[in-house]
Amino acid sequence: MDNVDTIYLDNQATTRTDPRVLAKMAVAWGDGFGNPHSAEHCIGWRAAASVDASALAVGALVGADQDEVIFTSGATEANNLALLGLRDQSQRSGRRRILMSAIEHKSVLAAGRYLSDCGECELVLIGVDRDGLIDLPNLTRQLDDDALLVSVMAVNNEIGVIQDIAAIGKLAAKAGALFHCDAAQAPCAFDTRDLLTHADLISLSAHKLYGPSGIGALVVRRDVQSILSPLIHGGGQQNGLRSGTVPLPLCAGFGAAVELLCGDEARRERERVGVVRDLFIAALAELCVETRLNGAAGDLRHPGNANLLFSSAAAADVIAAMQPFVAASSGSACTSGIPEPSHVLKAMGLTSDEADRSVRFSFGRYSTEDDARRAALIVNEAVARVSEPTRP
Ligand code: PMP
Repeated sequence: MDNVDTIYLDNQATTRTDPRVLAKMAVAWGDGFGNPHSAEHCIGWRAAASVDASALAVGALVGADQDEVIFTSGATEANNLALLGLRDQSQRSGRRRILMSAIEHKSVLAAGRYLSDCGECELVLIGVDRDGLIDLPNLTRQLDDDALLVSVMAVNNEIGVIQDIAAIGKLAAKAGALFHCDAAQAPCAFDTRDLLTHADLISLSAHKLYGPSGIGALVVRRDVQSILSPLIHGGGQQNGLRSGTVPLPLCAGFGAAVELLCGDEARRERERVGVVRDLFIAALAELCVETRLNGAAGDLRHPGNANLLFSSAAAADVIAAMQPFVAASSGSACTSGIPEPSHVLKAMGLTSDEADRSVRFSFGRYSTEDDARRAALIVNEAVARVSEPTRP
């Protein structure tokens, strides 16, 4: 199996680390080593300067300053810090309601449920329409002066749908609530450089944008930092919001990865990825594979995402039949393994059976047009092999 050239169409689960990122990390793992918190000597100063440069780059990705970036182990931790870190603020302000969309990542939903189970907050889930777009009139109705936080993801990890973050930010601000945006999937989908003008807290993850796994960030607007409480206590690093030695090589990789997503090259890449994805969908249609696209189309969708509902085959069977030639998934990697239909697809009104027949194909930086054509042929073959015989 090791010799097979697998077509990787699971870029929303994780992206392959870019070789330019690896090169920067190699330096940091080697001669560029040092503890950025060793304040007494030149090796520590050099390490601190390297971490500062990475924070500057990560901040620029969403329109934040260097000191607004809190490095974490990933977006899961960032999401937990955003939600659980506001417990004290809830007590101080008396605001108890947390509003979030029903299609948030499990790390947001579970943190919200935890607070609600502890009896500290009231969790309000806002539904989405058939396209996966949040019900803005309902969100408006639910936003009152008891609202502590609104948490809505910028781009969904399963269906790639892009929410109207500017509008949601305005609604939250009008009600005096904070706005947390899980933007782990956003930088590969659209230009995020003004995101902090709409949100107070933003979660990011390096392994979703061609950087290393094991690092992410919670970007926290400067005036919000004083009301956020840390989850990890210790030496008081990172403005006291996340103690622990900052991992220099991972920061260097994260910084290098986001720099590649800030310029014109990134815009061209998004367009190219969209063309490859569309070619795949068109090739499937030409081969008469019956599918329906789950979620909004066009500009409201991640250019790399094709979440397809097959008319006659179970997702798990199609994915298994494609091994080892195509890697795709039946939902978010974080929940796969647990045999339950996608909460995202169900929230959009799909039946459990329809959700079980849906596969997420996600294209990225290294996907080619040839991959798209070859993958369509492999999907076609797999579907033919596993399709349920049509009933008389
Ligand atoms: N949020 C979203 C939208 C994601 O797609 C993911 C990864 N599946 C996460 C949060 C969690 O990210 P991490 O793997 O960095 O913990």
